[in-house]
Amino acid sequence: MSTSLLYHTQNIVGFQHQSYKFEKGKVIELINRNVFTCPKCSSHNISVFPSRTRRIQCDKIGKKLFYIEVNIHRIYCRNCKVVSTDSLPFLSHPKSRISSSLKRTIIELRSEMSISAISKYFELDWRIVKDCEKRYLKKKFKAIKLKNVRIIGIDEIYVTRVKGKEKYITVVRDLESGAVLYVGSGKGAKSLDRFGKRLRHSKCNVKAIAMDMSKAYISWVEENLPNAQKVFDHFHVIKLMNDKLDKIRRRTAKEIDEEQKTLLKNQRFLFLRNVEDLEPDAKQLLDNLRKVFKGLGDASMMKEALRSIYHMAGNAVEAEAAFKNWCSIARQTQIKELIDMAKTIENNLDGITAYWKMSGLTNASMEGFNNKIRWLIRQAYGFRDDEYFTLKIYNLPNTKVEANI
Ligand SMILES: [Zn+2]
Repeated sequence: MSTSLLYHTQNIVGFQHQSYKFEKGKVIELINRNVFTCPKCSSHNISVFPSRTRRIQCDKIGKKLFYIEVNIHRIYCRNCKVVSTDSLPFLSHPKSRISSSLKRTIIELRSEMSISAISKYFELDWRIVKDCEKRYLKKKFKAIKLKNVRIIGIDEIYVTRVKGKEKYITVVRDLESGAVLYVGSGKGAKSLDRFGKRLRHSKCNVKAIAMDMSKAYISWVEENLPNAQKVFDHFHVIKLMNDKLDKIRRRTAKEIDEEQKTLLKNQRFLFLRNVEDLEPDAKQLLDNLRKVFKGLGDASMMKEALRSIYHMAGNAVEAEAAFKNWCSIARQTQIKELIDMAKTIENNLDGITAYWKMSGLTNASMEGFNNKIRWLIRQAYGFRDDEYFTLKIYNLPNTKVEANI
């Protein structure tokens, strides 16, 4: 390959073609450096000693795998009086076994191809492909600017169970741009420690925070962002209601006899799904179960009533009246979990109705992002590499969900 072809196809400059070898369908080109200089002071007052040969994988030529083989030299500089090893400028990093040009190709292909598909295509170890992407993402998300952030969303997300313990992550997003601003391990205020420090340094002006109604987050926000409006959005209110409903279902399951148990078994999702999403058969089954299990039936209807507030209330005043009404009905049911829910709503009514005051806060983006994360967990968590997983979350807004991890 001529010097000019080396440059134009592989982005290799300063080296000369020597010879070719062919090995089992692979093309190997031996090249040599044109001129040596001291890597520290660029002096020509040097002595050069060959030390070993390195083989670097480059972009394919047609369907053939293509490698560069180059002699690495040790250079003694008479000015610096030190011996150094010649480094190769066309590598993605000093110890890399692939060229920067191949690295760029891999990163371009990653949006369309899985790690295993790329590793098969270039006959590369999958770890090299993953490492290549990881280095790229690490650089891309090295410094995330918070300066212009105004509306953020905080979310805790269940990842998996490790050695019997539930593993969570806490994700902070810019709800206007959709960018992921922070990923913390665990849940609660402690998982936001590092984000709090970054906030203080950034001097940003956060106006509103969408989050759930947990005491830990509320006190974290009051301490770290005292002037921001807390918003308990649709997504988080309904999520909490679903948790309560699930508690009632489990409690009911414990109290009933075997025959009734069979009836209720595996119907968890029937109660948690939105009624309008159910097939007619499932809807009929839900209606029957509501009659048999009165408490659970009441709670299930209360959840639908709560959801309807979000469809019906046109402004914060209407919403406030509707929530108060909901709370008084919830108390009349005398179901412990519903009374708890009513208390939580009343204690946080300002933040719940703030949802109507804050235009631009859409729970659709919240819910959509949570679905994307769940997809990512299924795909990427198998790598058992927390750092890579975190970087993939930062990159989620730029990721097509159809592509493979
Ligand atoms: Zn020197």
